[in-house]
Amino acid sequence: MNRVRASAPQLAGLVPYDPKYLPARAFLSANENPRDVDAEVRELISRRIASVPLNRYPDPLANGLRDMIAEANGLDRSCVLLGNGGDELLFDLALAWGGPGRTCLNFPPTFSVYAANARLTNTAVVDIARREDFSIDEEATFERLAVGDIDYVVVASPNNPTGLRAPQDFLERLLDATDALVMVDEAYFEFSRSTVRPLLATHENLVILRTFSKAFSLAGVRLGYILANPGVINEFLKVRQPYSVDAVSQAVGEVVYEHRARFEPGIREIIEERGRVMEALRTTVGVRPYPSDSNWILFNMEDAGAAWASLYENGVLVRDFSATPLLEGCLRVTIGTPEQNDEFIRLLRAFVAERGQKRAQAARA
Ligand code: PMP
Repeated sequence: MNRVRASAPQLAGLVPYDPKYLPARAFLSANENPRDVDAEVRELISRRIASVPLNRYPDPLANGLRDMIAEANGLDRSCVLLGNGGDELLFDLALAWGGPGRTCLNFPPTFSVYAANARLTNTAVVDIARREDFSIDEEATFERLAVGDIDYVVVASPNNPTGLRAPQDFLERLLDATDALVMVDEAYFEFSRSTVRPLLATHENLVILRTFSKAFSLAGVRLGYILANPGVINEFLKVRQPYSVDAVSQAVGEVVYEHRARFEPGIREIIEERGRVMEALRTTVGVRPYPSDSNWILFNMEDAGAAWASLYENGVLVRDFSATPLLEGCLRVTIGTPEQNDEFIRLLRAFVAERGQKRAQAARA
């Protein structure tokens, strides 16, 4: 066997992204919608797909879907760009606004893909750690921005995995304070009912990320989009893969977006269930949930790693952050169907009760 020379130096020590998928009965680890698209929409999708030419390249800009999204948001088509999931557009952000000699501002703990993309593109990362309650340290942020070397900022709102959205007035002051491109990642905004979209009219440095993966039950299809002013979209156009949104995904996205009102009851159910799961966690001994504007709840507890394993052994997969810096002792549970949520709560309480009994026995021994 001959040898291969080393890959690019920025890859040294890098671990490929691992969503930590494991087979489970209740899959509460990836912040997906627990309900698939309904039977009627699926039938419409099947019919639409049947007429998609597979021998032709797709419309590179997915203009059909682009126009629908533009219209729904009161924007021109030139303010919208589709991508192969939000993930592609996050990578495009780092390609277009990052690079050697460039710097991004990040608010850990947050979605790990932001820092990974910066590293891949040789972009320097300035971290402003969140406070103990996971709110953004606003004073430190404005102080750091005043240095003038930040090229782009990413703020998830709501923030994954901590849960709350960023205050609207902070985002507006952030946009006013800098000419850096500010990406507000609204992947979960349907569950927070809050968007900075109106600020596009006054801020050229704003770009908003959205996805079909969560509220619209299409994580399997890979569709995301950005909203921004045309000058910003144009820079993304320079770096994107020409045919990243395939013809089948475009067809599926068009049908789902056309029928997006049908997803509203499911979104409402998730928001209601979030309240119920939050209350159950709050009243479970030794468990400290963090407030959430999204479709998951982060919580802290002793023996979090053992709790994760116990849940998993019983068929419920949640996300284990217990060994992640700044998130020690934390697990994240996605809001599932009411039945899945009941099962999760029952198993977590059983774990806590059993641990309590073992401790009491140990104390007596
Ligand atoms: N942003 C955040 C905060 C996310 O959690 C995710 C999905 N995990 C994404 C963006 C990307 O989602 P997708 O690529 O499925 O659109």
